[in-house]
Parts: sequence; C-alpha cells; structure tokens
Amino acid sequence: MEKKSIAVLGATGSIGTQALEVIRAHPDRFAVHALTAGSNADLLIAQALEFRPCVVVIADPDKYKQVQTALAGTAINVLAGNEALEEVVQHKEVDTVLCALVGSVGLRSTLAAIEAGKTIALANKETLVVAGALVMDLAARKGARILPVDSEHSAIFQCLAGEQAQQVDKIYLTASGGPFRGKRRADLSAVTAEQALRHPNWVMGAKITIDSASLMNKGLEVIEAKWLFDLDVSQIDVVVHPQSIVHSLVQFKDGSIKAQLGLPDMKLPIQYALTYPDRVENTFPRFDFADFSTLTFERADRDTFRNLELAYRALAMGGNMPCILNAANEVVVAAFLKGETGFLAMSDVIEETLAAVTLIQRPTLADYESTDQYSRIIARELVTKSKKIYHIEK
Ligand code: NAD
Ligand code: MG
Repeated sequence: MEKKSIAVLGATGSIGTQALEVIRAHPDRFAVHALTAGSNADLLIAQALEFRPCVVVIADPDKYKQVQTALAGTAINVLAGNEALEEVVQHKEVDTVLCALVGSVGLRSTLAAIEAGKTIALANKETLVVAGALVMDLAARKGARILPVDSEHSAIFQCLAGEQAQQVDKIYLTASGGPFRGKRRADLSAVTAEQALRHPNWVMGAKITIDSASLMNKGLEVIEAKWLFDLDVSQIDVVVHPQSIVHSLVQFKDGSIKAQLGLPDMKLPIQYALTYPDRVENTFPRFDFADFSTLTFERADRDTFRNLELAYRALAMGGNMPCILNAANEVVVAAFLKGETGFLAMSDVIEETLAAVTLIQRPTLADYESTDQYSRIIARELVTKSKKIYHIEK
C-alpha cells in the first residue's frame, strides 16, 4: 500500500496528539511529512524524534534555537514562524494536511494547502467560520477535498454517504450542553474559568472547552456546517444530547432520519478523515448498550447561552459578520481564561463588537484579515470596560 504523507499542523494540541496516536497505530498507512507547534518545543522535539518528519515548524521564534539544537544530529529540517506553515503544506510530497491549529491563525495555512490541491482534514473550525465562502470556493476551483474532523460534522458526512445532497431536509447538530447545562443566567454570573474548564464528556484544548461551556462552540459548528455541506441556515438545528453518543443527525425530504453514534472519542473522526474512504480496524473502546440505557434530547437554551443566538444571527447577516463574531470570541475567551472578564460578559462583548464593525457583504481575504484585526481591537476595549463593571459588581 502506498503510504499517505501527512502534515500535522498543531501537532502538540489535543487533536494533534490524538492524530499522532492514530498515525502511530498504522505505520503501514501513514508517513509524517511535517509537524508544527505554537510554542511547546519540548513536545514537538519528542514527536519529531519519534515520527522522523522531513520538517518541523515552531511558530514561536524564541523557541527556534532549542528545537534546532535538539534535532541537530538528524535529517529533520527546522523552521520557525507562521509563514513557514504556508510553505510546508504545499510541499509536493504532502497528500493530506491535518489542520488542528486553534483560532483564525489557521486560515492562511489552510488556504495555502487548498491552493496546492491537498486533501484537508479540517479540525480548525474557525477557518470556515471566518472565511467559509472563500475557503469553499477555492477548494472547488482547486479540486481540494475538505474532510471534517469535528465529530458532529464527521457524523453528518458519514450520514450523507450514498445520499444526494438535494434530498437533505435538515441536519441536527448535537451538543452535550457543557458543564452549565440547565443553569439560568443568574447562576452563571460568577462562574470561573476553572468551573467552565470541567467538561462532562470531552477532554479538549482550553479554548474549545470554554466555547463548549458557553455554547459558542455549537454556534461556530452551525457556521462550519453551512459551508461544509452547502446548507441554508434554516436547515441547521441544534439539539442538546448530554450523553454525547449520537454525534449528529440528518433528516431527509421523506422524513427519514439517519444518525451516527459512538463513544465520545475524537480519534474515530480523526481516523475516518485520514483513512477516508476506507474504514480501518482499531482498538478504540466501543459503545455498549448496557452502559447507556437512556439517551436523552432537549432543546438548546438560547436565552441563557446567548452565544448560540449570536452565531445564528451573524450567519444570517452573512459577509464578514461571522469573522467579527469569531475574532471577538477569541478575545473574550482568552480574557475569561485569565479572569479578566465574566462568563456572561463574553456574550455582551461579542454582541457589541458585531454592532460596531461595518458589514462587508462580499469580503476579500484582505477584508477578512482587517475585519479580524479591527474586531479584536474593539473587543479588547470592551473587555477592559466590562472588567471595570465586573469588578464593581463583585
Ligand atoms: P489545542 O489548544 O489543544 O491545540 C492547538 C494547537 O495549535 C497546538 O499544537 C498549538 O501549539 C498550536 N497553536 C496554537 N496557537 C498557534 C499559533 N499562533 N501559531 C501556530 N500554532 C499554534 O486545541 P485543540 O483542542 O486541539 O483544537 C484544535 C482545533 O480543533 C480547534 O479549532 C478546535 O475547535 C477543533 N476541535 C477540537 C476538538 C477537540 O476535541 N480538542 C474537537 C473538535 C474540534
Ligand atoms: Mg464538535
């Protein structure tokens, strides 16, 4: 079997390390061409010594020397800075690029990989939230396939196998509801980052864990689904399913519903994106009906978790609005993690940023990038203001 050559962007993160577990289990199928990290030099070095890629990239220039010295006796090329990502994903040897960076910082390297016609295994949902129209249009023109890694979108993708797109009535994205499911606004005014980081079902990076607690993750996923599956916003619904066994569902024109089920384990959707269209045996723990006598479903509470409402609103407005939503969200999540803003204030800042930045109906890449930067400035100012209010309230 010809080995698939993979570039793993964000190799040291939650998705990146799980992807390397999948790759490690199938040395006959995969070779690693490139590994990249933000600033975790120690882990990147250990991964490089195990997987022996052609090249590694460390985004943080201050860590370059450390990585270079550690890998000096090997044939591994060491690069620094985010521009290097755009170069390595386009290398002729690369077949599949796993995009597992967090945040809009992933946009440029994903576009570069698409430009070179690579297959994209996409975990970095923010890329589609920020510039979905641009990304999907380029992928269509370059014949680059985008395979979802996000568990809900992998579920939808699997339900759609063998079906015709025009026969889809709607999709249901499932949400666990996060650690604050069932809480009201009054219960949430003083919750801390530590509480929000305790997700009931999934162990993930910090940013997506906060997004799951605030339901912004589901909002981002609604936007991601729109672009991946070419749906109208009216065709995308969210249902809360606390056990995280049903990963999402598709309802067809005749009313028939297909669902994809399994234990909450990201390795399965990662593996499916890397081996697609093959299904490959593995040793992952399996679902047992005896462990789950009840699967429950409830409506999402968009009044308490306003981020979900704001994401729907931004998507309906279109243009650069989802880009503004994402930028403001990245700012407030970082601030919330540092204790600089309150849980509910996050939605206030996002809403105010959406109102403050001008709508551009058909943005270019430059428009998206300036929208991203400008929205971050506004959101930061609003956080500073909210911080004062937050501290007075306390
Ligand atoms: P993470 O924070 O654990 O890892 C992010 C990776 O990106 C790390 O390797 C980090 O070094 C790198 N990185 C961060 N900032 C960077 C920068 N400025 N430049 C270059 N590299 C940088 O995040 P994660 O939980 O693995 O999530 C990655 C993406 O996958 C996100 O978009 C997330 O929404 C999505 N996702 C994650 C999960 C999950 O279970 N973790 C599930 C579904 C989707
Ligand atoms: Mg998901």
